[in-house]
Amino acid sequence: MKFAVEAAPIVVVPVAGEDLAFPVRRIYCVGRNYAAHAREMGADPAREPPFFFAKPSDAVVYVAPGTTGRFPYPSATTNCHYEMELVVAIGKGGRDIAVARALDHVFGYALGLDMTRRDLQAKLRDAGRPWDVAKGFDHAAPIGPIHRADAVGHLAKGAIWLTLNGAPKQQSDLADMIWSVAETVAHLSGYFELAPGDLIYTGTPEGVGAVVRGDTLRGGIEGLGEFEVAVV
Ligand code: MN
Repeated sequence: MKFAVEAAPIVVVPVAGEDLAFPVRRIYCVGRNYAAHAREMGADPAREPPFFFAKPSDAVVYVAPGTTGRFPYPSATTNCHYEMELVVAIGKGGRDIAVARALDHVFGYALGLDMTRRDLQAKLRDAGRPWDVAKGFDHAAPIGPIHRADAVGHLAKGAIWLTLNGAPKQQSDLADMIWSVAETVAHLSGYFELAPGDLIYTGTPEGVGAVVRGDTLRGGIEGLGEFEVAVV
């Protein structure tokens, strides 16, 4: 049967150093996964179970190494924030995955930015409404190439940082994540059947802040290099 309207293209993120594309299925995100960030958001960082939200797969903006990615400043906000995050790429699906087996489901890792309309998020949260328009807008998920776990290992510690126009803003360590990658995959698979192509943005450390047009963000994670994104 023919399509009634034009079919959307498959969203892909290149695999680092290879002529291969990782086809993106879903984008999940973890909320408040670093204690100091939870506190700066006015939340109690007690180790309650992780919570999740989602972005549409076509919110991805691929940032190639050595280039400057372009993040168009979104509509309907005057307080759009950066959140530098480790992204987990799922290579093998499953549900109710045990923590001890969870890393077997990870294809690799990438640098990511969970861009956020912070003003709308606060209003929606206070009104008990869904976060979608605060988190799931167009271009809200810049991402670098996906590095195979086979090549870079599984990431449990190492620096994660972000600078804004050269000034240090976020500086933490993956070891400070409240929920590890394995624990996050295990929890998430209790709510959704994971499948190859899923991405998980694992939460941001403290130091989030606003951007304006003309800003340049530079983020990095030990073992994954750096990427640069311009706010346009
Ligand atoms: Mn986030």
